[in-house]
Amino acid sequence: EITPHDRYETGLYSSQYDIYDESRLTLMSDLREALNQDQTELHYQPKMCLSTGRVIGVEALIRWHHPDRGWVYPGDFVPLAEETGVIMQLTSWAINRGIADLAKLNATHPELTLAINISARDLSSPGLRHQITETLQRHGLPASRLTLELTETAAMEDPETGLKALQHLAESGLQISIDDFGSGYSSLSYLKQLPASEIKLDRSIIVDICTSDSSRVIVETAINMVHGLGYSVVAEGVEDRESAELLRHLNCDRVQGFWLCHPLSLAGLRQWLDKHQPPDPLAFDQAGR
Ligand code: C2E
Ligand code: MG
Ligand code: MG
Ligand code: MG
Repeated sequence: EITPHDRYETGLYSSQYDIYDESRLTLMSDLREALNQDQTELHYQPKMCLSTGRVIGVEALIRWHHPDRGWVYPGDFVPLAEETGVIMQLTSWAINRGIADLAKLNATHPELTLAINISARDLSSPGLRHQITETLQRHGLPASRLTLELTETAAMEDPETGLKALQHLAESGLQISIDDFGSGYSSLSYLKQLPASEIKLDRSIIVDICTSDSSRVIVETAINMVHGLGYSVVAEGVEDRESAELLRHLNCDRVQGFWLCHPLSLAGLRQWLDKHQPPDPLAFDQAGR
């Protein structure tokens, strides 16, 4: 039997499948409910500095255990939440939960920054900046401890409004990171105007840097270009030590990926951070799992 999900995946979906529409709507109303009742969670994935071996921050990734469907991953509901506008509620929830967790970690890890993923639609929300700065203040945390990750595609959706909103956020002292760079079609002239401090190279261009000469050249060129624009570079989706070493050789600043650590619950992150001792940046074995 062909499920609505199969239809969607194979591009066969069309509006005649009302059932599918209904299940989408149900998923979104379930998500609203889950967010309201705090049944969603944030998991955290560390970002490590390649020259010191230190963890400089963590990225928050939403996790949702649906009572009937089991685990539902962001790839299956974030795009839908973006389409339907539920994303504003999701982002608002993530800001509250993420900053509260950062405050809990602060006593033992005052150096960590927290990155929260936001979407294009969040940029048009007039209350976003206020909510973030107010929540940080309430927890006694400076704005510089929070990074907002926005994909290059999202930043380009409405370039003028997007740029203004990002400038406002950056003026408040928040860090801006451009996510999934290399997966879309950014205009370089737009990229250089963004008030970002960090660019994240998409996993799709990182994945075969050790086996493909052209991928390595692309990544090397991207790193140099991003540095030339004054941003630091993170490689996402790094799955093995060899890639991490090559990236360090290519002057990449930071890595993130399963090689270092999978996304972890707050409790799991604490345990992992306790064990991750980086006295020797060359001691990659310690970080490897
Ligand atoms: P992203 O922000 O680019 O996050 C990276 C994704 O890659 C995460 O998937 C992470 O679990 C996965 N990943 C990390 N390291 C590796 C690796 O070494 N190999 C592989 N194969 N994957 C790796 P996840 O958690 O499923 O999230 C997918 C996307 O959904 C995120 O991409 C982000 O765009 C979005 N997302 C997740 N949480 C949130 C959220 O709270 N708010 C918003 N607006 N979007 C979110
Ligand atoms: Mg991200
Ligand atoms: Mg990314
Ligand atoms: Mg990505």
